[in-house]
Amino acid sequence: MQPATAQAETTTDLASAVVATMRQLGVVGLPRNYEIFYEALAGSNHELSLEVVSLSNRPTQDQLDRIGRKFFPDNHGTGIVEHARETIARELEDIASILRHERGHLEKYGRMLDQTAEGLNSRNIISKDLLQKIVEVMSTATVSTIEHGKQVMTTLGDKTTELESVKSKLEEYKKLADTDPLTLIWNRRAFDRAVAAIYNSKSGVMFNALILTDIDRFKGINDRFGHPAGDKILRGIARIMRSSTRDDVFVARTGGEEFALIVEGASEEATLGIAERVRQAIEQAQFGDAQNPALYGSVTVSMGVCMAAQADGPEDLYSKADRALYRAKMAGRNRVNLFSAAPETPGKNWMLYRKD
Ligand code: C2E
Ligand code: C2E
Ligand code: MG
Repeated sequence: MQPATAQAETTTDLASAVVATMRQLGVVGLPRNYEIFYEALAGSNHELSLEVVSLSNRPTQDQLDRIGRKFFPDNHGTGIVEHARETIARELEDIASILRHERGHLEKYGRMLDQTAEGLNSRNIISKDLLQKIVEVMSTATVSTIEHGKQVMTTLGDKTTELESVKSKLEEYKKLADTDPLTLIWNRRAFDRAVAAIYNSKSGVMFNALILTDIDRFKGINDRFGHPAGDKILRGIARIMRSSTRDDVFVARTGGEEFALIVEGASEEATLGIAERVRQAIEQAQFGDAQNPALYGSVTVSMGVCMAAQADGPEDLYSKADRALYRAKMAGRNRVNLFSAAPETPGKNWMLYRKD
């Protein structure tokens, strides 16, 4: 394949190039695909760029996910969970082997008891010395069996503690696996699941909407102030998104500078109102550090809105909201654009949310 633009100058050019390249190759507009193409076209990882360039037309989702897992294991892989699963399997195998061994040990002891009992029951005359000997052997065997049993209990106790710690770690990881580490809001994995869940029920489809949000000219901010500044802005935007919406709004970071809101129970008009409210809240904020809270100045975002009922599945919803977002960018950024089915004409609220 040929990337539409090998090296884009600004983030928005890059975003457009990413969208164009993905369309050209017939790649579904999933956030995780977007991340692959975004990083590949940004040229930040040469090896990744090479792998993406060598993709054929219409690559399968499997092929893309393989690349994703390789280069973005935190987002694409289930590495940690797999690892914990392996640890648990190993621990259980250890426990099973201890118990098998223990059963063998007890069977041996049981046979000894049987044989001794047989010996005592037989009519053979047993000398006092022989009886003494049998008691000695039996008591040694009993003591060793008890000692052995204690050891087994300790080992099993240790194993249980280990298993419990693996279990609580797994729970922690499960939470981590759904959280964006930088902004502490939902990550793309959780978002993908939430979008998929919308289409599990009729009411989900009727009453949900997706608002995709992308920071305008974010690369410029990173270039001017450095990545730590970029990170502060990402955290600030996540905080504004949380605090300017009700708690039932699902707020996620779905890519480098992309966020998503899933709103339930709001009409198209109300959803546009929420998007516009968030857009304004971000526009009005100043970003900076502890010494100078306005050091980096203000930031704007572009938003693409699509009602779930306008799409026939999770991927379609995402790609339609993405198309609306793309148009918001093309129309000059810092605005909300509603998805419209018309292929290349602007959405019906095209001018409604213009900043000026
Ligand atoms: P919250 O529900 O978590 O909402 C957080 C913020 O999101 C609100 O801060 C407001 O800026 C925005 N917001 C949420 N819903 C709406 C809405 O329908 N329209 C508009 N224009 N903005 C909305 P705010 O206004 O400072 O309120 C803080 C908290 O006070 C809210 O937290 C909520 O718990 C409560 N609250 C405020 N007004 C109402 C209300 O009319 N009805 C109810 N049930 N609670 C309200
Ligand atoms: P509005 O701001 O024009 O919001 C219209 C409708 O949009 C709301 O009707 C609600 O259905 C939906 N909506 C707005 N923001 C949110 C949100 O963050 N989450 C969800 N799930 N839905 C949202 P509703 O609830 O009947 O509220 C009517 C009006 O009451 C709002 O009109 C607003 O003026 C006021 N209001 C309600 N809650 C708040 C609040 O927390 N803060 C402020 N400032 N105003 C609120
Ligand atoms: Mg951007």
